Order: sequence, then C-alpha cells, then structure tokens
Amino acid sequence: MDKNITFTIIKPSAVEDGFIGPILAKINEAGFRIAALKFTHLTEKDAQQFYAVHSERPFFNSLVSFMTSGPIVVATLEKENAVEEFRKLIGATNPKDAAEGTIRKLYGRDMEANAVHGSDSPENAAIESDFFFSKRERF
Ligand code: UDP
Ligand code: MG
Repeated sequence: MDKNITFTIIKPSAVEDGFIGPILAKINEAGFRIAALKFTHLTEKDAQQFYAVHSERPFFNSLVSFMTSGPIVVATLEKENAVEEFRKLIGATNPKDAAEGTIRKLYGRDMEANAVHGSDSPENAAIESDFFFSKRERF
C-alpha cells in the first residue's frame, strides 16, 4: 500500500464560490505533488458509490444531492505520509471547528459544504483514486 498518496475532491460549493485556484495553491504550498487532476461532475450513482460507507447515516441523501449539484475537481496527491498530512491541512469536518488557516476553515460554508474531501486511510486513498483515474491518467 502506498502511504504517500491521498485523494481529494474540491466540492461543488467551493467550485461555485471560485475557490479552485486558492485551494490548489494551498495544496501546492503545503508540498503536495499533484499526481492526477480533473474537472468532473458526479452522477447520483457515482456519489452513492463513493460515499457508500455513509449510506446508513441520516445525512446520506442530502450529501449525495449536494455532491451531484455541480461540477467538482478531483485530484490524487503525493507527499510523505499524505493522508495524515492532508487531513491536517484541511482541518475538522465542520468548518466551525477547523483550525485557523486550514482549507475547511478558510473555504468551507458549513458541515456538509465543507470545501474538500480528504481520504481517511492509504487503503481508501487508493480505492478513491482508482474510482476516478486510470493508471494512464496518473503521473
Ligand atoms: N457530513 C455531513 N454531516 C455530518 C457529517 C458529515 O453532511 O454530520 C458530510 C460532510 O460533507 C463530510 C462527509 O459527509 O465531509 C463525509 O463525512 P465524514 O464523517 O467522512 O467526514 P470527513 O472525513 O469528510 O471529515
Ligand atoms: Mg471521511
């Protein structure tokens, strides 16, 4: 398992708010290498599959509806200890609780529209990256 890879989504709210550039700049400044990147739009089936682990949670339907509401940016990122380092950079799930200077604090709207996704383990980073990118699309 590659411990140096994580996967992120710039969520529809952050794309709509014009934060693609600022978020990519933060990622860059923090020393992550962008290994794959694309602008896309999830179908309902995609979002249900991507968040399948949360399918029994009360927020699931709202989350799927939000994640399909507009275009997103997906990226695979590389850095030593990438998952942990990226979770530090994005901050807590709820932007209200996220530390100053973190991406969710700076660019999140609320608990659901919290600007970005970040993988929670190297195993899931690989699964999530494979969900969006073929080998040929990773550099
Ligand atoms: N989420 C939500 N309400 C909640 C918890 C989570 O809308 O009470 C959304 C939020 O967009 C979050 C995503 O569901 O990023 C996945 O939740 P998770 O607990 O995995 O948080 P994360 O790993 O993104 O910090
Ligand atoms: Mg999570």
